[in-house]
Amino acid sequence: MAKKKVTKKKAAVHVEPDFLESVSRNFDKAAALTKYPRGLLAQIKACNSVYQMRFPVKIGNEYHVIEAYRAQHSQHRNPTKGGIRFSQKVNQDEVVALATLMTYKCAIVDVPFGGAKGGVKISPRAYNPEQLERITRRYTMELIRKNFIGPGIDVPAPDYGTGGREMAWILDTYSTIKGGLNAAGCVTGKPVSQHGIRGRTEATGRGVYYGIREFCSNADDMKKLGLTPGMAGKTMAIQGLGNVGSHTGLISQNEGDVKIVCVAEYEGAIYKEDGIDMAKLLKYRKQRGTILKYPGSTTLKSRKDVLTVKCDILVPAALENQINMSNAHKVKAKIVAEAANGPVTSAAEDVLLKKGIVVIPDMYINAGGVTVSYFEWLKNLSHMRFGRMEKRFDQNTYHNIVNMVEKVTGKSITKKEKGMIVRGADEVDLVRSGLEETMVTSFNQIREIHKRRKSVKDLRSAAFISALDKISSDYLALGIFP
Ligand code: NAD
Repeated sequence: MAKKKVTKKKAAVHVEPDFLESVSRNFDKAAALTKYPRGLLAQIKACNSVYQMRFPVKIGNEYHVIEAYRAQHSQHRNPTKGGIRFSQKVNQDEVVALATLMTYKCAIVDVPFGGAKGGVKISPRAYNPEQLERITRRYTMELIRKNFIGPGIDVPAPDYGTGGREMAWILDTYSTIKGGLNAAGCVTGKPVSQHGIRGRTEATGRGVYYGIREFCSNADDMKKLGLTPGMAGKTMAIQGLGNVGSHTGLISQNEGDVKIVCVAEYEGAIYKEDGIDMAKLLKYRKQRGTILKYPGSTTLKSRKDVLTVKCDILVPAALENQINMSNAHKVKAKIVAEAANGPVTSAAEDVLLKKGIVVIPDMYINAGGVTVSYFEWLKNLSHMRFGRMEKRFDQNTYHNIVNMVEKVTGKSITKKEKGMIVRGADEVDLVRSGLEETMVTSFNQIREIHKRRKSVKDLRSAAFISALDKISSDYLALGIFP
């Protein structure tokens, strides 16, 4: 009896696809629904180049040999683009899977880049800032040496374990060695003071919010899930309170009136039926280093339980393969918004779809980061802040219009009301507007494919087809594939 159980368990482990296999399977599933030539599909699927490196960095009195990667999945558009991950779990397949997703992500949101990704196999917690700086600068030197970085070649950005600080180190290293008029465009996600753009830090989380909001706005889709349209009052659970998870939570709560009932971090998961105030929780964690014992909350048995609590919207915002064959059957959320890359394995997705759960796929829902990175890159190449030319002009024009209307009607509005109407757009207003437009338009393209084509049963396949249509037209325009 015991033997049988083990065999069963082993078989279950065996059928679980790894991250790269999941991406590959998902691609094949969607590609089979298209009529593109097989050679073209093979070219779109293949990863063009991977640079694997090992370099020594002096840590204390000894040298650590650091393993790192940069994968460029596709150069059908240039430069290539994608974040850099610092994690002990980094490996070549993971980096390739992430670079692959970047290609489709950029196409879905009409950002004119090919996909790339970098990974450094370290646990950032194991090093102090000075050591991390040394590792980051050395990694950048390797990228420069092999021509794997540059504003027109390959442009990194933050990902798991990295942020503005690391991007500033990359920029400084690149500028010192290579220089050039457009050097600032060699990396995005930089601090605003270091050629960054306002609104980039929260862009991925904000994009996740816009994407969920757009899905929830359709009455028919929501009715199928037994939910009312709109986000207000919906319950949400979030795994991971890093850059993406924390901003998704804050913005969903503040702008969507969503109730965050459960969150998980490394140290565990907490639940609070009447809602967790995200701003207070983040402050609490900053002060105490933990989310546990947050006032009014109960601690769940395991941090993994966040994935299976009862809620309307589940936001996995940590790492890949979190919802897999071991827990997919226990997921109770009605909508899973893949804020992280690859949090649901392809096998687990089949289980979720059978249960009638909607999965909003990573390559669409977390594309807000690369969208605003594109704006940052454009800002760097144009050498000018967005809004600088038109802000005052717009402001004066609106002022004249309001004055005219007041004069004609003989009625006047308050100073506060006037202030709201006549305001010209700042950089952050334009970034948010561009991001919202991108997330709404891209979702409607995906929804259209999902609705129009009966053979397309899920949003991920629809998103893949949206990407394939756009990437194929680039290749077909070149006349390479008849
Ligand atoms: P981050 O390093 O800022 O945050 C990740 C958080 O998840 C950390 O606080 C970590 O402690 C927590 N975590 C890790 N494992 C956990 C677990 N098992 N349970 C609970 N918490 C856990 O990383 P990030 O930038 O927010 O990225 C998160 C995911 O979003 C990644 O998959 C990344 O590829 C994806 N993503 C990030 C961006 C971006 O702009 N940063 C853009 C698109 C996609």
